[in-house]
Amino acid sequence: MEQADTSTSGTMTDVRPRRHPTVGNERHPLLILGGGIGGLAAALALAQHGMKSHVIEKRKVYEPEGAGIQIGPNGSRLLASLGVADALEPLAGKPDLIHARDSATGATLARLPLGGWIAKRHGAPYWVLHRADLHQALFDAARASPLIARTTDFDAIAVENRGEHVVVRSRSSGEIEGSAMIAADGIRSMVRDEFFAGKPLRFAGKCAARAVIPATAMPKSLAENATGLWMSPKAHVVHYPVRGGSEVALVFVRNETAASDDWSASLQSSWVTEPARAFAKSLRDLLDVPAEWKKWSLYELPPLPTWVRGNICLLGDAAHPTLPFLAQGGVLAIEDAAVLARMIARRPDDICQGFTLYERERRPRATRVVAAAKSNGSIYHLDGFLAQARNAAMRISPPEMLMARYDWIYGYRA
Ligand SMILES: Cc1cc2nc3c(=O)[nH]c(=O)nc-3n(C[C@H](O)[C@H](O)[C@H](O)COP(=O)(O)OP(=O)(O)OC[C@H]3O[C@@H](n4cnc5c(N)ncnc54)[C@H](O)[C@@H]3O)c2cc1C
Repeated sequence: MEQADTSTSGTMTDVRPRRHPTVGNERHPLLILGGGIGGLAAALALAQHGMKSHVIEKRKVYEPEGAGIQIGPNGSRLLASLGVADALEPLAGKPDLIHARDSATGATLARLPLGGWIAKRHGAPYWVLHRADLHQALFDAARASPLIARTTDFDAIAVENRGEHVVVRSRSSGEIEGSAMIAADGIRSMVRDEFFAGKPLRFAGKCAARAVIPATAMPKSLAENATGLWMSPKAHVVHYPVRGGSEVALVFVRNETAASDDWSASLQSSWVTEPARAFAKSLRDLLDVPAEWKKWSLYELPPLPTWVRGNICLLGDAAHPTLPFLAQGGVLAIEDAAVLARMIARRPDDICQGFTLYERERRPRATRVVAAAKSNGSIYHLDGFLAQARNAAMRISPPEMLMARYDWIYGYRA
């Protein structure tokens, strides 16, 4: 671990944009706080531009998190350019379609094309992955890069700006110094809370439960190579194949009056099965399968005044947490990483300018995706006449036309 120079000190609020001749070099790598999806992707993207970084992560190891992640073509394209597609390809589910149904009746509302159709349209596949597989592939690629240093088991409790250098400190593992910092420390970002004046996280009125089951446990009537989407007024369900089709990831989202702080709380299965009593039998059968569900609360963040303070910037969920109803939060973090590395490489002598260019390019995109995800959640939970109108529109619209409405998401090139 590097030793910090303690000869000067300052606080984040002192920081003014300044030129940075040393960014990403041998002595002062760029610090990346958070070795999640966005942090590791940022390290890999910087390495592609020949820049050194140091990823600092509080976890000791990546425990398998029992949840899946959908990666649209805008994300799989970037995973390929980061060099992790070959490792992920055998593990990825490649659903042929999104099968949208009414939860109560089980009736099909639309069969939206994925598979070859979306790969051809956007030049990259639609993948569904186990989250642990994605983390592992990014982590292995980072470990193999001579340009990426990593420190795990380092729970950052303070960040200090010392003029041209940034120091991050933990309670028990000392401190690490770098030329600048990318804060990719997730939805509960310590850096954001401490230095980026903004409104606090707001409970979105919904909680999600997740589980992974063997594919062999899938009810026979639901056995198809598809992402399943079931809609009802108070809850919706998404499921898709992961680990090359050997397992199925399930997410159950329902309205809730209060948030729980534990993001990974074990759950009484009745939280899922109780509201599911009104659902079609095949869906009830599916929701009965998991022996254990993990629950977490969903939050929104009012837009921040800025993502950049001097030589510190925010990335991924730290900057723009996204409700999961478009399956884009992780992909947005990967897009951020690619753009950020490109902008820093464009202005290697001026990190603050690189950060500013990054925010300028990424903020409109992230804002639009965040809003669209929220709106999708409302559409999934429509009730009464509005739900009937939604269902009718989905039934009569050509499926390709429904999917084409998302071209702006999947066709994006970071
Ligand atoms: C129900 C649900 C389903 C989702 N489904 C999808 C999907 O299908 N597709 C998709 O693209 N996205 C999905 N997402 C969103 C996605 O998981 C997040 O947007 C993504 O993980 C954000 O990446 P990140 O790197 O910004 O943060 P994270 O992946 O959360 O990483 C943050 C990292 O920082 C570390 N850290 C935090 N604080 C500190 C500290 N003080 N010191 C050191 N390290 C620290 C953490 O341990 C963690 O490793 C979903 C989210 C939810 C809630």
